[in-house]
Amino acid sequence: MQLMLCGGTGCHATGSKPFQEALNAELVNRGLADEIKVIETGCNGFCAVGPVMLVQPEGIFYQKLSVEDVPELVEEHFLKGRPVPRLFFKEHKSKEKIPHIDDIPFFSNQVYRAMRNKGAIDPEVINDYIARDGYFGSAKALNEMTSEDIIEEMLASGLRGRGGAGFPTGMKWKFAHASEGDEKYVLCNADEGDPGAFMDRSILESDPHVVLEGMTIAAKAINATKGYIYCRTEYQLAIRRLEIAIAQAKEYGLLGEDILGSGFSFDVEIYQGAGAFVCGEETALMRSIEGKRGMPRPRPPFPAQKGLWDKPTILNNVESFANVPQIILNGGEWYASVGTEKSKGTKVFALSGDINNIGLVEVPMGLPISKLIYDIGGGIPNKRKFKAVQLGGPSGGCVPEQHLDTPIDYEEIAKVGAIMGSGGAIVMDDRTCMVDMARFFMDFIQEESCGKCTPCREGTRRILEILERICEGKGEERDLKSLEELCEVASSSALCGLGQTAANPVLSTMRFFMDEYKAHIFDKT
Ligand code: SF4
Repeated sequence: MQLMLCGGTGCHATGSKPFQEALNAELVNRGLADEIKVIETGCNGFCAVGPVMLVQPEGIFYQKLSVEDVPELVEEHFLKGRPVPRLFFKEHKSKEKIPHIDDIPFFSNQVYRAMRNKGAIDPEVINDYIARDGYFGSAKALNEMTSEDIIEEMLASGLRGRGGAGFPTGMKWKFAHASEGDEKYVLCNADEGDPGAFMDRSILESDPHVVLEGMTIAAKAINATKGYIYCRTEYQLAIRRLEIAIAQAKEYGLLGEDILGSGFSFDVEIYQGAGAFVCGEETALMRSIEGKRGMPRPRPPFPAQKGLWDKPTILNNVESFANVPQIILNGGEWYASVGTEKSKGTKVFALSGDINNIGLVEVPMGLPISKLIYDIGGGIPNKRKFKAVQLGGPSGGCVPEQHLDTPIDYEEIAKVGAIMGSGGAIVMDDRTCMVDMARFFMDFIQEESCGKCTPCREGTRRILEILERICEGKGEERDLKSLEELCEVASSSALCGLGQTAANPVLSTMRFFMDEYKAHIFDKT
């Protein structure tokens, strides 16, 4: 029997470590330590009910565990074979049937691609990863495929950048492959600065090897010899697991010189970013690795031609790389068999805010947002009413109730004024003031603006001032016009994506919740 105990940051915060110590001690005391193994996995995804543990092979899911539960669990379940209903997921506590994890809608409605190993392996044990086809994709790419073959497979998969922009990954690699350069670089963006986003952190904590393998395949595709993972320094658990993974991969000959005897060499280093949101922008990220202040620069030239240290460079985010090994192993067509016409595969979302099932989920493209919120997310707590979901963080927009049937698809989400973004999904109930929400995101963006260009540096400040005035009940009718004009200027003339998208939360709340702006201005009673 294996006890897959979640060891992600969320479950650590709710007490999984003391639980694990108590459980191990009790198993030893009761003479069960040889037959029952406790395995600390990465993030299981269901953060709302942590600490969580999956009993395998039975598939029984325990939630909200504490040290006090240990004696009963060991006595009843592990010695007497009687699972403990009071620790089941809430809807299963009173049922006669012993629930399997797949009976829980939070899990059964998901499709795992990028997160296929979450909760199933010990992220610090390379053999666990290899046992689930780990490094088979890079072995195939390095020994059986040309760079062109890899790029063709990526193009066939239809994978688009999961960092938010949605640019076709295969196309990006094709440009970098075609660029001349004595040295080329593969970069992984793990900076993840959006409020409410924890997709990258969780994947790195659960499955660091998949990112290394994806980067290695990318390196072969563009003929790079060096890679960097740019990870925010707050993600210490992810960084520690990455360091272990890099050392293990090198020891196994899966990274470094002459990988698997293929004659191809590729090395990866971690670069810890200091937490500036703008360093998620690709050119700023590259300047930061170069040791300069992280500020965007105009494009062209694009990084595929002139990137890190002016060499051809590709940058993809953690989720994008996590999809690559299975695409190479199973083929692009396999990946593209899920999704919509223009948005293929799956998307990882971090559900947070006013929603029952806070956590990390992976869903097929094309799924209506309503299913994400209600079937997987469990709906709104305390019988409150859904008001909106903010997709894409501070660069995104809110999707109101009347558009909840919008499918998860880059183009369809854009039509309702939001963006797919990297996967942050903050749900708001009917108590939320949408003007205040726009003010919150503008405050964040204004703080994070690097100050290089005037429309963003000054524009975000002025927009914030107006929003603050309106929230304080000091707004005037003309402020609405000024807001629209300032948003238009920032969107059309800021240098980088941060400034170009800064107005999105304001524009989207003005589009769907203008009555709330007007109430702040005209209804002062
Ligand atoms: Fe800096 Fe904002 Fe201009 Fe981007 S848009 S370069 S973040 S000031």
